[in-house]
Amino acid sequence: MNYKRSSDLFKAAKNVIPGGVNSPVRAFSAVGGDPVFIKEAKGAYLFDEDGNKYIDYINSWGPLILGHAFQPVVDAVIEKAKKGTSFGTPTEIETTIAELAVSMVPNIDKIRFVNSGTEACMSAVRLARGFTSREKVIKFAGCYHGHSDSFLIQAGSGAITFGTPNSPGVTQGTAKDTLLATYNSLESVEALLDANKEEVACIILEPIAGNMGCIPPKEGFLEGLRELCDKHNVLLIFDEVMTGFRQAKGGVQELKNIKADIVCFGKVIGGGLPVGAFAARNEIMDYLAPTGPVYQAGTLSGNPLAMAAGLAMLSELNKKSEIYNSIADKTEFLHLGISKVLNENNVAHTINREGSMISVHFSEEPVVDFESAARANNDTFKKFFHGMLENGVYIAPSAFETWFISDALTYEDLNETISAVDRVAKKLK
Ligand SMILES: *Cc1c(COP(=O)(O)O)cnc(C)c1O
Repeated sequence: MNYKRSSDLFKAAKNVIPGGVNSPVRAFSAVGGDPVFIKEAKGAYLFDEDGNKYIDYINSWGPLILGHAFQPVVDAVIEKAKKGTSFGTPTEIETTIAELAVSMVPNIDKIRFVNSGTEACMSAVRLARGFTSREKVIKFAGCYHGHSDSFLIQAGSGAITFGTPNSPGVTQGTAKDTLLATYNSLESVEALLDANKEEVACIILEPIAGNMGCIPPKEGFLEGLRELCDKHNVLLIFDEVMTGFRQAKGGVQELKNIKADIVCFGKVIGGGLPVGAFAARNEIMDYLAPTGPVYQAGTLSGNPLAMAAGLAMLSELNKKSEIYNSIADKTEFLHLGISKVLNENNVAHTINREGSMISVHFSEEPVVDFESAARANNDTFKKFFHGMLENGVYIAPSAFETWFISDALTYEDLNETISAVDRVAKKLK
């Protein structure tokens, strides 16, 4: 494939944008080479600036569960834009989408809209701290909750006491209030709760992890966290920015029948526009300004274009819940097909899958937490990524990302993808 125009555009971008991108993973740093610049997309396909076509397994990192340029979303945005793009006043559509979201998701009474998943998680933690009058937060190594300071803390090996910042600019003061646990290990959480009695405001996690590749919760893990939270009066925050409206209408709360105290949303809820949200029962949400003392705000929060896109997306998912079975079936088909050809080619791998999230870890051992995800073979992943790209299949340019299956993918696309894996696998050795 020819990527000349993409490479030229990347050069130009680097002169005026740090690293040429507005979000680091787009730069292909983890896999090497220049990123492809996308010009347009429709349904399951991306078209780059050099005219190459790709089957897309990123779907804007999750939001586009029904594929690109989904007509009802596009129409809703165009119609809204004609009437003005922002007023900074309340608008009716904010209530309409809030009512719909509250009706789809179990265990929430009120929802507040923000502009990104980062904002949603950051605000949810502030609310939890305000509500409980406690300061510490437990997060899990390898879970991503956006780029706000409290969350940019990662485990050094074996460190389960104090986190250390993994970005300069995050202060030690902030880092010391973030406690790190190990995903799928209730013992690690219990140890932190015992060592920090009456100090922990909340536990936040991706209830199906997707930011260290896809890692589903082990049987009993979420139930165990719920029990520990109840025992220690700690709020349980489900960061469903990735899983919300993707794994089920009501997200993982519905899928696994576990109640979270606060739920964060992003991605799908905005239909491809910049939207995040957080939600909880009345008692907690009424603690937010202007009813309560915890401050949170946004000039463009609840923006009409964003709400129109989100409403069109959620309405579609609410109307056609068979979509969830359809994308889970497609994901399973892909799993079985990829597994078969990798086995035939003797490529060591572990595939994790839940619903419409799937990832191929180049590792022989089970991948259940950050450490086991990090032990997978990254050199193999790099070759795999570039091979797939050459074969017209666009997966995330990092081994620590899940593939997002959209319902726009046809079985023909899936078969083509499996054949591409076969061709690439032959060259991996
Ligand atoms: C993407 C993501 C975020 C951050 O959302 P942004 O909109 O990128 O700020 C937070 N949590 C999870 C689980 C995510 O996948």
